[in-house]
Amino acid sequence: MIEVRGLTKRYGPTTAVDGLTFEVAPGTVTGFLGPNGSGKSTTMRMIIGLDRPDAGQARIGGRGYRELGWPLRRVGSLLDARSFQPGRSGRAHLAALAASNRLPARRVDEVLDIVGLTQAAGRRAGKYSLGMAQRLGIATALLGDPEVLILDEPVNGLDPEGIRWLRSLLRSLAAEGRTVFISSHLIAEMALTATDLIVIGQGRLLAQTTVAELSAQSTSLEEAFLALTSGVTDYESHAREHGHHYLGSAS
Ligand code: ADP
Repeated sequence: MIEVRGLTKRYGPTTAVDGLTFEVAPGTVTGFLGPNGSGKSTTMRMIIGLDRPDAGQARIGGRGYRELGWPLRRVGSLLDARSFQPGRSGRAHLAALAASNRLPARRVDEVLDIVGLTQAAGRRAGKYSLGMAQRLGIATALLGDPEVLILDEPVNGLDPEGIRWLRSLLRSLAAEGRTVFISSHLIAEMALTATDLIVIGQGRLLAQTTVAELSAQSTSLEEAFLALTSGVTDYESHAREHGHHYLGSAS
């Protein structure tokens, strides 16, 4: 459903995304995993047309995001939880988006209910906690009842109950046949939510695998992930260049 081919993005001397190729299938939760700064957000921004690639392309159902008619009905995304006008209520934010995308007004109350914000819907979104802002962002992504969901670090700011809730929500959306693509830098959290994995480091593909396959590669899932990503974290390359050993006995 999501196809990325040779995707590349440079910011000055930094190659944030470097010839990335992978596919995300419908019907499962796919985790997009990599250390901080490995290019996950930049990749997601290019998939939904917020950033222009220097090379390669990203397609959703065979088309570029900008070629999709009524994209909110096809693809729901959460990239920055605080991307709403702070003075507006949560309900007003969703109502404005529903109106401009010709979605039925009743959908606003449906998504508020799904994310558990019905009580807080009348309050100014700028006063929401990070967890509540995250829930509003998820409501926004769900507004158009899309078949594809792209969520950048959706667990950020959620409390343990919220994390558990999001996990079951994402799994049930995938079970309905939707494509669910979520990023995280935390393998342990990801393993509880995703079944398929795309692992990147320094903008390059390290593995397209599954949680089961990856955990079979080492004594634990965490060990396997660290082995895969060792040498591609920014602080390690920094340490090498400057001759430090931040990690103690770096082997
Ligand atoms: P991740 O989401 O995996 O943490 P990002 O995609 O945010 O990684 O960043 C990848 C790299 O690109 C980092 O080195 C980051 O500093 C750089 N980068 C991202 N966005 C910009 C930007 N707008 N301008 C300059 N550099 C950027």
